[in-house]
Amino acid sequence: MGFSEVKDCQGLLYRIAKFRLHRPVSVQGVMEHALQHRERVGVQDFVLLEDYTSEAAFIDNLRKRFNENIIYTYIGNVLISVNPYKNLPIYTEDKAKLYYNKAFFEAPPHVFAIADNAYRSLMFEHREQCILISGESGSGKTEASKKVLEYIAARTNHIRNVETVKDKLLQSNPLLEAFGNAKTHRNDNSSRFGKYMDIQFNYEGAPEGGHILNYLLEKSRVVSQMTGERNFHIFYQLLAGADQELIKHLKLQGRPEAYKYTTDTHSTFIQKTNDADQFRIVQEAMKVIEIGETEQREMFEIVASVLHLGNVKFVQNDKGYAEILSHDANTGNVADLLKVNVLKLREVLTSRTIDARGDVVNTPLDLEQSQYARDALAKAIYDKHFSWLVSRLNASLAPKERDPRASVIGILDIYGFEIFPKNSFEQFCINFCNEKLQQLFIQLTLKQEQEEYLREGIAWEPVEYFNNIVICDLIEARHKGIISILDDECLRPGDATDASFLEKLSQHLDGHAHYKSHRKVDSKTQKLMGRDEFCLVHYAGEVTYNVNTFLEKNNDLLFRDIQVLMAASGNNIVSNCFKDTNLTSKKRPETAITQFKNSLNDLIKILSSKEPSYIRCIKPNDFKTPMQFDDKLVSHQVKYLGLMENLRVRRAGFAYRRTYEAFLERYKCLSAETWPNYRGPAREGVQRLVAALNYEREEYRMGNTKIFIRFPKTLFETEDAFQIK
Ligand code: ADP
Ligand code: MG
Repeated sequence: MGFSEVKDCQGLLYRIAKFRLHRPVSVQGVMEHALQHRERVGVQDFVLLEDYTSEAAFIDNLRKRFNENIIYTYIGNVLISVNPYKNLPIYTEDKAKLYYNKAFFEAPPHVFAIADNAYRSLMFEHREQCILISGESGSGKTEASKKVLEYIAARTNHIRNVETVKDKLLQSNPLLEAFGNAKTHRNDNSSRFGKYMDIQFNYEGAPEGGHILNYLLEKSRVVSQMTGERNFHIFYQLLAGADQELIKHLKLQGRPEAYKYTTDTHSTFIQKTNDADQFRIVQEAMKVIEIGETEQREMFEIVASVLHLGNVKFVQNDKGYAEILSHDANTGNVADLLKVNVLKLREVLTSRTIDARGDVVNTPLDLEQSQYARDALAKAIYDKHFSWLVSRLNASLAPKERDPRASVIGILDIYGFEIFPKNSFEQFCINFCNEKLQQLFIQLTLKQEQEEYLREGIAWEPVEYFNNIVICDLIEARHKGIISILDDECLRPGDATDASFLEKLSQHLDGHAHYKSHRKVDSKTQKLMGRDEFCLVHYAGEVTYNVNTFLEKNNDLLFRDIQVLMAASGNNIVSNCFKDTNLTSKKRPETAITQFKNSLNDLIKILSSKEPSYIRCIKPNDFKTPMQFDDKLVSHQVKYLGLMENLRVRRAGFAYRRTYEAFLERYKCLSAETWPNYRGPAREGVQRLVAALNYEREEYRMGNTKIFIRFPKTLFETEDAFQIK
């Protein structure tokens, strides 16, 4: 491939050396080649950008590389990845071997480098690791997480007897994706849940187990999708791929169009065959995970029962209440599949018992309430089944014997910041999650930096940065945060509405620097915000939220009668799922946002105890096509991901650091002091080298094992001046 990017960096140093040492022009050819190369493919680490404050230069560098099929670039130890939307030959076994035991700068930037680095830090320095992958939908997060897993599987191939565990780890993906992913406008295989996965290693460094945590499945998708989008893959896979016997048993018709929950589809023939193939992959994965025949059947009964449930229709009787026609087959099918009493099922879908001060009365539901109850049940069954699947995977992935010396690498693949034309409760949760992760990023990066300075015996230099903790507090502070106010409204008996919630927000939060009430003008559009909107100034930008349905979604109510019936189901999975809910307690269950907040805080605790690596994913265009790079779209993401700030902070400190051995090995040829005959200790060699290169005192520090280099702007300026001559 001619000149590697690493040589490019070396070429730069040749140029610097030539300038400083007034060397003869014997390296001219090398230099020119290096320069041309750099012109074509950009720099492999953004800290090497001359104008590191310019977003245009940043995007220019990304685009150059993207056009050359180079999708990875670093900001220090953060990996930026641009989705190529085509298969590149960069994930082969041979390529993987390039990264075994290599430092970052020794091979081109790659997700494998991140994985190898994490693996080595875990094995040899005994620091637990986590790899945090972020980016918007379709940017390549899930693919990146799979590459990490595959790399680790390959990397540990020499260690015996771990094949089954690795198979299980790898096969957990197709299963989770079948039940948790869907086709959306942004991504044909979009994960509709957040996922954190621990890979557990034994003392030999072999994977011996895993554990998955899941977050917020988008269960509203079960009952409705936007036009052109689909429900979760498994519905179509089951319909297209199940054999006749299974189809008959599940009382299915084999066509997605026959079911209300899957009618919004424009499925082509090609998609159908894909779904069928995919179904076989799912069944294979189930075998590997050791999900037995009976369990498999129960899982498919649940999927099918959701489809039948969607087709249950209600009519209005003379009294204005909802009724199910007596010959309705759908409720019969659901009752058969879930093994519940059909009359009871019809009853709980059309009425509810209310305990009014000890008087238990049965009240009929109207049409709208019945439809709500039906959809709530479908969502609850699907959502709980998904959580059950995760715990089932965990049971299968749990190490046979827990090695007390075991340690883990965690991988987080979670939705990025979302700003849509209309933002609702879901975006609020997701963006809150991103604020928390940004806060963690700040804390961990600073901690990591401080610890390295301490280890290296270098004085710490504080760097100015924007701390988003004010926004986290605005959202989650006790009593006066947005979550608190929302929960108060949800738990308040009487006339609480979305509007009264918004009113309370304004009362409490008006004047906060990061909150804008609907009484204010939107700074972007210069229009008055809608009366049902509020705006938050997130670290990544302003987002206007519409409060409609906030209360309903946060309450996430499932009528108690329905829960009781499901807990009595003859389908073991269903009864297990619903038994957990505390049916006897009079206490209100936790609201959706509070559950989410708590699980998020648990996650942050787990991550805080680990050493992080970051992969920031970028989507180059909205059309899922290769070779198209949309500057504007990328610019948005560079902002949302906080990359310019990331680069600024990195450049404000010592942007470049190398162990003395590595530094000397690479650059010793730049001075007669160290080349060709220097044999002394590395640290002293580097000392001589930088003296010969006339490094200013302020430009670098000598740590215990590494040299830290600042890369001041002046260096590039002199370099430019030199080039013009
Ligand atoms: P996200 O999880 O961020 O929503 P995915 O990882 O599912 O996005 O990626 C969306 C699609 O983009 C994938 O299905 C795949 O077709 C393509 N893609 C992503 N990363 C790569 C990659 N490194 N190489 C080739 N194609 C990719
Ligand atoms: Mg994904």
